[in-house]
Amino acid sequence: MTLAGKTALVTGASRGIGKEIALELARNGANIVVNYAGNTQLAEQVADEIRSIGRESIAIQADVANSEAVEQMVKETVNMFGTLDILVNNAGITRDQLLMRMKESDWDDVLNTNLKSVFLTTKAVSRQMMKQRKGRIINISSIVGVSGNAGQANYVAAKAGIIGLTKTAAKELAPRNITVNAVAPGFITTDMTDKLPEDVKQELYKQIPLARLGEPKDIAYVVAFLASEKSSYITGQTIHVNGGMYM
Ligand code: NAD
Repeated sequence: MTLAGKTALVTGASRGIGKEIALELARNGANIVVNYAGNTQLAEQVADEIRSIGRESIAIQADVANSEAVEQMVKETVNMFGTLDILVNNAGITRDQLLMRMKESDWDDVLNTNLKSVFLTTKAVSRQMMKQRKGRIINISSIVGVSGNAGQANYVAAKAGIIGLTKTAAKELAPRNITVNAVAPGFITTDMTDKLPEDVKQELYKQIPLARLGEPKDIAYVVAFLASEKSSYITGQTIHVNGGMYM
């Protein structure tokens, strides 16, 4: 159990990749804060599942794009668990549209939820981690943050921004023994990709050398490694988990 006694905050952990990350960190021994935006019932179910495997867990509703909500969530976490050792910035949304048709509000919503949020949580959490002189921050980027993708200018800009923010935070926080890395998933089976039309999925399979979409656990295993002591000499990196799609 590589994470025994650690406290992890996972944003957007009520479903999909975030849920699997929360469960995998718990299986490795960590106590978990399940952050969520809307569906209390789903988030409470994840917290229940974590408690059923013997860890402590609370669900905290907070919009990660809102600085006051983020500060309050971090305060509550430290009050409850005493420490905050691992932050996983997973929450994300899409508002896909071709550039010429994209509304300013689509741009703002995606940049705020997917990128500004990472700045806000990193700032709030690293204050606590600096006191502890130790920490792990893992940011979920995307393959399209490197490759670009038609119809996703807002999402791609946010996911590329995460890679730059990760490198900078890694440099600034290294003296306090805090590592900051990103994981860039390829196409993973979740509610987000369920929306893709079948013909688009069939085209995707042809482009993935391992010939399948990824599973949330493919991402969760890498996050658990980056959260552990075993990754202590890795920082500022983006780990690509995409079935070989972007080789
Ligand atoms: P999902 O839509 O199933 O889950 C996203 C989660 O984020 C949900 O729990 C949602 O409630 C939460 N969330 C949204 N806005 C929030 C806010 N303002 N505050 C707090 N929580 C909020 O998506 P997913 O596929 O599980 O994606 C998880 C992450 O992985 C996202 O950052 C996504 O961009 C990234 N990603 C996904 C894929 C994929 O193929 N599924 C590929 C690359 C990257």
